[in-house]
Amino acid sequence: MAVPLVYSSKYGDYDLGEGHPFNGARFRAFIELLEASDAASSFELVEPEPASREVLERVHAPSYLDRIAALERVGGMLTLDTPVLPGMVDAARLIVGGALTATRSVMDGAPVACAFGGFHHAARDDGGGFCLFNDVAVAARTLLDGPDVERVMIIDTDAHHGNGTQDIFYDDRKVLFVSLHQDPRTLYPGRGFLSELGAGTGLGYTVNIPLPPYSGLPRFRRAFDEVVTPLTRSFSPDVIIRNGGSDPYVGDELTELALDMAGLEAVGAMVRELSDTSCGRLVDLTISGYGDHVPQSWAALIRGVTGVDIPVDYPEERVELPGDQEGEDPMFARVLDRLRGHLAEHWDCF
Ligand SMILES: [Zn+2]
Repeated sequence: MAVPLVYSSKYGDYDLGEGHPFNGARFRAFIELLEASDAASSFELVEPEPASREVLERVHAPSYLDRIAALERVGGMLTLDTPVLPGMVDAARLIVGGALTATRSVMDGAPVACAFGGFHHAARDDGGGFCLFNDVAVAARTLLDGPDVERVMIIDTDAHHGNGTQDIFYDDRKVLFVSLHQDPRTLYPGRGFLSELGAGTGLGYTVNIPLPPYSGLPRFRRAFDEVVTPLTRSFSPDVIIRNGGSDPYVGDELTELALDMAGLEAVGAMVRELSDTSCGRLVDLTISGYGDHVPQSWAALIRGVTGVDIPVDYPEERVELPGDQEGEDPMFARVLDRLRGHLAEHWDCF
């Protein structure tokens, strides 16, 4: 069965302008890389429909949607890093619609569906960090509004913390939000500390795993083994949404998490295994990655979650990283111990 891959040539209109790290050419570049390989036949390209205003209002305030529309008319700035340029809003609506198309595919029986998305900094009435509308949250909310889904797990492996997604579901125990990200003391948006655990009946359903700069794969793997895997078993999600993106790559222009290509693939494969051993429904959203390594790094990510042999150039030499050390890693062990201590109040598995 071919893997659904949701894509529109209009995604390229989500472009934040000349010289900005978020450029719209990355989508087409990835599709060209895919179509030049034998792997193309393992994917079915699916066209998205734009999300309507009613759909966006499932997570965003009407006043915020009005503000975005007004900014687009004048090409204004939402935040210092996020202009709203003509054409971007239609492309953003299409990307949200694409995430919904991917969720429908997994509800119809596909074990995995891929789409371009993961605008996790957009909150109910605010945006920024290159994000206008939170496609991840719209997809999760739409699943929960339907008759077949009671629990959604969001695994956010982007290098930045998913503050918008976290805030939208902070008091909601139907969504288990787990984020692995670069230590917030060292990277935008400066959120995602261990102590951010949810609120009200959602307490314990927000889980943040800050990773020191230059962590590399060993710490990702340890976080999965010791925290993410037991949580997945206990929560027993009906659907997993992975907010991916390749900005944890060692050559990324904006971050320092230092995964190499094989590391990006391995993280994707860990997420896939969690899905295969729980709900068997995985929506994979990819959007980040800043620098020439995209589209190769997207190929590595998507290879990991789909198991499709997309060609990736794996560099022969790699840099030795602090997280590579065998054996003791006392600083990170303490981080995970403290997190498990917090979570033990809410989860029997710790
Ligand atoms: Zn990011």
